[in-house]
Amino acid sequence: MQAKDLDLRELLSFTPEGGVMHFMGRRVLMFDAVALGLLRKELIESMGISAARSILTRFGYAHGRRTAESLKEEFPKLFADSWTGPKLHMLHGMMVAEGAKRNDDSGAAPLVESFWHESYEAEQHLLHLGRSDMSVCWTLTGFASGYVSYWAGKEIYFIEDRCCGKGDAVCHVEGRSKEKWGDKLEPHLPYFQSESGDEIFKKLADTLKETEKRLKKRQRQLSCLDDTPCVTARSEAMRKTLDLTRRVAKVESSVIVTGESGVGKERIARLIHDESARAARPFIAVNCGALTETLLESELFGHAKGSFTGADKDSIGLFEAANGGTLFLDEIGEVSPGMQVKLLRALQEREIRRVGENKPRAVDIRIVAATNRNLVEEVLAGRFRQDLFYRLRVIEIKVPPLRERTEDILPLARIFLEEASRRAGNKVTGFTPEAADQLLRYDWPGNIRELQNAVEHAVAICIGSRATLGDLPEELRPALPKATVVGSIRHLEDIEREYVLAAMRATGNNRNRTAAELNIGIATLYRKLKGYEKAGHTV
Ligand SMILES: [Zn+2]
Repeated sequence: MQAKDLDLRELLSFTPEGGVMHFMGRRVLMFDAVALGLLRKELIESMGISAARSILTRFGYAHGRRTAESLKEEFPKLFADSWTGPKLHMLHGMMVAEGAKRNDDSGAAPLVESFWHESYEAEQHLLHLGRSDMSVCWTLTGFASGYVSYWAGKEIYFIEDRCCGKGDAVCHVEGRSKEKWGDKLEPHLPYFQSESGDEIFKKLADTLKETEKRLKKRQRQLSCLDDTPCVTARSEAMRKTLDLTRRVAKVESSVIVTGESGVGKERIARLIHDESARAARPFIAVNCGALTETLLESELFGHAKGSFTGADKDSIGLFEAANGGTLFLDEIGEVSPGMQVKLLRALQEREIRRVGENKPRAVDIRIVAATNRNLVEEVLAGRFRQDLFYRLRVIEIKVPPLRERTEDILPLARIFLEEASRRAGNKVTGFTPEAADQLLRYDWPGNIRELQNAVEHAVAICIGSRATLGDLPEELRPALPKATVVGSIRHLEDIEREYVLAAMRATGNNRNRTAAELNIGIATLYRKLKGYEKAGHTV
C-alpha cells in the first residue's frame, strides 16, 4: 500500500455507540473546529500573541511527531513513502494539500514545499480574530515540522510565507533544515523551541509585575488620582456641573475640564468615561505636566525597540492602551509646542506612530483633557496652539472651587473622615461644632485635595471620638484664642502684637495675605512688624 491508497474509512476504527475511537491504532478525539478557534482566541487574549503562537506551534509539532512515530511502528512501509505525511495531515481534516514537491535538500530548493487550501486554522483565526498581519497556521506548520523532522532524522522547520489568514489566496509553506534556512529561521525558531509552561508563566508573571510597577508609578505621578468623591453635590454649582457632565458623557465629543488645582477634575473625567458607551473599555489617565517632552511622547505613542537608549523592547503607548476607551490628558496646558503638534496630528488623523517607527497605527479613543490654566489666555499669548485648543475644547466643563460650593464642604469632610478613620483604625466619628465651623469658614485655596489632607491630619492626631479645632492643621485654625480674661488684664498693645504675629504664622509669613486678612494696609503691617522687631520681639 502507498500513501495515495490511504483511505479514512479503513484507518478510522470506532464503535457506532462512540466512546473510544482509533486512527491508525492511536486513540483520537473529535473536536469542533469553532471550539478550537475559541480556545485559540482565549490563549491569544490571555497570554498574548507570542505565547499563544508558541503553545500552538509546539502542540502541532507534538502531534506531527507522534503521528510519524506510530506510523513507523505500525506501518513501516508507508512510513518510508515520503507522501504519507501530507496525506495523513489531510486525513486529520486540517487542510487540503496541493502541489507538494520534494527535493533532496542539497541545492537551494526546499526539502519540502506545499500549498495548503482550506486551512482550518486560517479559517478559525479569521472568524474569531479577523485578518492578521502575519501567517497564522501555527499548528499546521508545527505538525509538518514535527512529522518531517522525525521522518528525515534531523530537524526540519516549516515556514509559512503566504497565508489565507493574512489575506493571501492560499497558504504556502517551505520546509528546510536549520542550516539551509540560515538567518531567515531566526524570528521563527523560538516558537518551536520547547519552553516549559513554568518558563512561560514566569515570563508572564514578570511582565505583570513590570506592568503593576509602571501602574503604581503612574498613579504616584498623577497627583489628582486620589479618589476624591468630588461628585458629592448638594450645592447648586456642583449639581449643574454634574448634570452637564452626565449629558456630555453620552456624546463622543472631546471635552476639556477646567478648574483650580485640587477641585477633582480627574473624577469628572472618570465620570464621563463611566457614563459613556466606552465604559467597558479602558480609562487611562496621564499627567502631561509631570513628564518631559521626550518621555511624554514615548509614554503616549509607545516606541520601537532600539529607538533610544534604554528602549530594549517594543512598547505600546497610552493611546494604544486606551484603544476603544478614554484617554485623560491632565495638565494639557503644560504640553510643549512640539508635543502640541504631535497631539494635534494624532487627533486629526486618528492614528499614531510609535517613536522610532514609520508605520501608522489606527486608534479609536475619546480625549478628555484638563487644565487649571486659562487656555484662552494661553492661546492669545501664543503659548498654546489655537487649532489644538478648538479640537480639545468642543465642550468645556468648569468645576467650581470648593469655596463656591460651601454646602458640599461638610458632607465631603465627613466622607473623608470616615475613610481616614477606617484606614487609621481609630474611632473618630465626627467634628466638634467649633471644628465644623472652621471648616466652613476657611477658603480652601487647595480645594478638595486640601480638605482631604486637613481631615486626614485631624484624624491622625485626634485622641477623642470627635476631631476638634485643635486637631485641624495650624493654617486652618483661627489665630485668636477665645476672648476671655484669664488672670490680670493685659496691655492691648501686647495682645495686638501677639495676634498680628500669630496671623503671620497662619499665612506662612505671607505679608500680603496677612494684611488682607487683618483688613489693614500692607504699609501698616510693615510698620507694625518693624516696631516689634525694634522692641526685640522675634518676627
Ligand atoms: Zn495559513
